[in-house]
Amino acid sequence: MKKCIDCGSGIDQGSVIDFCERCGIQTFGRKMFDAIVQNMENARNNGDLLHTKKEGLE
Ligand SMILES: [Zn+2]
Repeated sequence: MKKCIDCGSGIDQGSVIDFCERCGIQTFGRKMFDAIVQNMENARNNGDLLHTKKEGLE
């Protein structure tokens, strides 16, 4: 199970970040935290799309 790098509590395996929501908000603030998560998810989705595309060619 994935763990928060800050407090060590378990976090969702599919999470794009390495810390829990509580620590993230504590560190960055709600607004910034949401923006970071959004950016990470977008980046991952783009990566998934590229991966899928490549696999389709092979
Ligand atoms: Zn934490």
